[in-house]
Amino acid sequence: MRVEQAHPVVLREIGKALTNPPDAILISAYLQHFNSVSAIAGLTKARGVPVVLGGPMFNLSEVAEEWRKIPGVSAVVGAEVDRDLPDLVEAICRPTDPLAFPGVMLPDGRRSAAARPLRNLDQTPMADFTDFPWDRYPGRIVPMMTGRGCQWDKCLFCSDVISVSGRTFRTRSVENVLLEMQEQSRRHETTNFLFLDLKLNSWPDMIRGIAKGVGRIVQGAEWIGTVHVDQRPDNGLARPDLEAAAAGGMRRISFGLESGSQRLLDEMQKGSSVERNSAFTRDAHAAGLSIRCTMFKGYPGETAADMEATARFLEDHARWLDRVRFNTFTVHTGTPIWSALTQKAAGSGGLSIARSDHRRARVDCRTTEAHTRAYRRAKARALEIVYQINSRQLRDTARQFDGLM
Ligand code: SF4
Repeated sequence: MRVEQAHPVVLREIGKALTNPPDAILISAYLQHFNSVSAIAGLTKARGVPVVLGGPMFNLSEVAEEWRKIPGVSAVVGAEVDRDLPDLVEAICRPTDPLAFPGVMLPDGRRSAAARPLRNLDQTPMADFTDFPWDRYPGRIVPMMTGRGCQWDKCLFCSDVISVSGRTFRTRSVENVLLEMQEQSRRHETTNFLFLDLKLNSWPDMIRGIAKGVGRIVQGAEWIGTVHVDQRPDNGLARPDLEAAAAGGMRRISFGLESGSQRLLDEMQKGSSVERNSAFTRDAHAAGLSIRCTMFKGYPGETAADMEATARFLEDHARWLDRVRFNTFTVHTGTPIWSALTQKAAGSGGLSIARSDHRRARVDCRTTEAHTRAYRRAKARALEIVYQINSRQLRDTARQFDGLM
């Protein structure tokens, strides 16, 4: 796949950097970056420069096992090293014992104890984007996180809540988040922010606090984020909350719709209802927000009736949706549904594992479910509506955030 090829510009820049070799190279990698990491580590190995590799899924031993074998990689780190990183890098460069730090795997397979989720996020350093090449982008949009993890933490398919930083919900204080917005705005002369939290409403007072407070400290602030339309009596997404969010600069809101079938939502333990998703969609649009949703097809046991319900939901709500991302369902290593599949337990529908691809933390599945003509017809209908929605122009107010979420 093209996206997995090592990018020549990256290799060229690394080559330039190595003419005056640094003490170490630190790489934060997503799992599609295997070839790039291999190519970079190949270049650095020849110069004797250690490569410290981190990334969101290296807390999974199956995954770290694959990546630690890349020639030239000195350590694979599956831990939130916000506060420990300088000491860890020093331990690798000296070299003393990097295994004194939790969440580290060495090339020979030795590893330290699993790292615990980081507590007290207000004490983590603020991200430093000073060296980011802002001039190569059409606008300056600062990525931020108000917390880590998800208070619901139960969806059977979710790989986010088993990742390094997604395990257990932890939040910063509203004051700390607002302080960072003020500082990033000053440093980078921008008023635009992208919240990368798994969901901004795990603690409803966070989204309300940003909406209420940001105007005081960053005039004209605009921001976007993702939420979970869950069933708590107060999930921070009532109509007045959404209106306050829009008034406080929120421009775009994304949520995991997943399916229009209540049966399937319950099956995946999504903790949401079709009815509430529907009300949220209408309310968020009326409040002036651009709405994006994510969903998937092919969840184990999905029937023609489920797909019919999804197509119907999309038809009924198309006028309020700005973008839909309709993925094919993928099973990720370490998720509850992966455990069910590996143990051939109930809940795995007609799926079974054809091949484990731990390098990418996913498994290729084969299905014994024969999808009927009714299923295929409903899917074609759903895809047609998705195409129509995605072909439209975004709401004007959200244009600068196009493609980011
Ligand atoms: S609500 Fe979202 S982040 Fe939380 S468990 Fe479900 S899919 Fe994962």
